[in-house]
Amino acid sequence: MKTLIVPVSGGKDSQVVLSLALKTGRPIVCVHQNTGYDHPDTYAQIEAMEKFYGVKVEHTVSEGMFTFLEKSGYFPNSAARGCTQRLKQLPFANWLKEKQFTHENAEIWFGMRSDESRDRASKYGGITDDDDFTLADVAVYYGQNKKMAQTIGRIPVKLPIVEWNTEQIFDYIAKEGAPINPLYERGHSRVGCYPCLLARKSEWQNAGKDPAGREHIEKMIALEDKWKAEGNHRKFIKVHRVWDVRDFLEGKDVRELANEECGY
Ligand code: SF4
Repeated sequence: MKTLIVPVSGGKDSQVVLSLALKTGRPIVCVHQNTGYDHPDTYAQIEAMEKFYGVKVEHTVSEGMFTFLEKSGYFPNSAARGCTQRLKQLPFANWLKEKQFTHENAEIWFGMRSDESRDRASKYGGITDDDDFTLADVAVYYGQNKKMAQTIGRIPVKLPIVEWNTEQIFDYIAKEGAPINPLYERGHSRVGCYPCLLARKSEWQNAGKDPAGREHIEKMIALEDKWKAEGNHRKFIKVHRVWDVRDFLEGKDVRELANEECGY
């Protein structure tokens, strides 16, 4: 029987996928794609889920968001993203290889939903939980070279909640009596990288009011100051290439733009 791999973000969608996966009775392996840049409440939620569902969540190993930013010398944006590959996809690929998971012994269940956003609606609209994909179908990164396309890129993928709406997700978790990430109660619509560098304005504004979010934003400002001191006067720290991150620390009202999202 193939092992079911469930990537767990600490958010509500992958939590429901984990719960559904456990009901199959199949062997399950959970993994968190750890950027070192989640909110502390998200790490705590993953631990709470381990206790509630009786699972162990493994963590991929990445260089971490701030090392990535420092090394790459730019702030990811829609035209030059980079963070998804370096912090999520490459570490996940390494983890799959290390565990010797292949299309013959594993299947992956992801928590994408078509009603999550406009991007997801265009990517996953019309798809059902019966549809079969491969890892390379879901993310082109895994099919980018022949070796990867022939190995982990062939691992089968299912999207068991692709047709669920947000209300169904919250209802399911409430009925289970399971813990839920408290970031939702504090106005966040998504959890994970805190804040996602491509998140919409409201997510940045919420992060600017949160101690952990402020710490992350202050680290970005310190990095920009360092770059400037080194003689590079390009303005790096921009959200959507429009807003200065300082705006979010100061609570300024900045105009909303269409959100983009992690290219995973
Ligand atoms: S969630 Fe956002 S910040 Fe994190 S890897 Fe994806 S695009 Fe980058």
